Amino acid sequence: MTMAWKHALVTGGSSGIGRAIALSLAGAGVAVTICGRRESELAKVADKADNIHAIVADVTDEDSVRALYAQAEAARDPFDIVVANAGIASSAPAHRTTLEDWNRIVNVNLTGAFLTVRPALAGMAERGRGRIVFIASVAGLRGSAYVAPYVASKHGVVGLTRALAAELLKTGVTVNAICPGYVETEMLEQSIRRVIDKTGRSEEEARRGFAEINPNHRLIKPEEVAAAAMWLVSDAAISVTGQAIPISGGG
Ligand code: NDP
Repeated sequence: MTMAWKHALVTGGSSGIGRAIALSLAGAGVAVTICGRRESELAKVADKADNIHAIVADVTDEDSVRALYAQAEAARDPFDIVVANAGIASSAPAHRTTLEDWNRIVNVNLTGAFLTVRPALAGMAERGRGRIVFIASVAGLRGSAYVAPYVASKHGVVGLTRALAAELLKTGVTVNAICPGYVETEMLEQSIRRVIDKTGRSEEEARRGFAEINPNHRLIKPEEVAAAAMWLVSDAAISVTGQAIPISGGG
């Protein structure tokens, strides 16, 4: 698939789902700027394609995101695709969740997603074209025990998707969220380690436990999420906006 789009931003492009999306977009001929906090991890992905460019940036820091836009758009074109993917997770019963934990998760997953897309909105609307894709979660569509800040932040991302889609309806800019179930990434590896530490289960048991939460009883591959993102940014999806699309192995 080749694309008319020129320049995409993928936050959290150094691993997991973000890396898969960055590689897919780059393979379709789009220049891709990836960001994250760890330079060494970003460099490994940028080394895989000449048209992937790495910039260290923290999505929770407004100045850092502004500086990223200034640097990337001066070097290449204005972003016509923005994928707000960066995210973190933790787990604890709600009554033991500290304000610090709450703020940490909400700041990255929800406020960070807002800060990521905000600088692109006016330019995309003015040019009459653009694609915004949020990587939310099935946790943005339903409740789950022991992950209150994560569930709340991802419901917020789905709300943000719907609000921006409504605001941009007549501009030619689409705004959608992808809501994956459990995906084989570094984030899932961290969750597996937490289960092993807390319950004493073996790695295989912990991994199987997560796979069985997905209705099809298998873990999703990052490339499956990337394929959904590629469809959302394709011409075929021009009339798809304001949607929260589960990639979850069932309802
Ligand atoms: P990974 O842990 O593999 O990747 C997360 C990425 O986000 C990393 O590149 C990380 O880089 C970056 N990141 C984290 N915090 C920040 C920050 N403050 N500023 C900039 N970048 C940041 O996780 P996944 O690929 O699994 O997750 C990607 C998205 O998919 C997340 O939003 C997650 O919630 C969502 N998701 C994941 C699921 C799963 O099962 N894996 C299921 C459903 C949704 P660095 O640490 O260097 O900053």
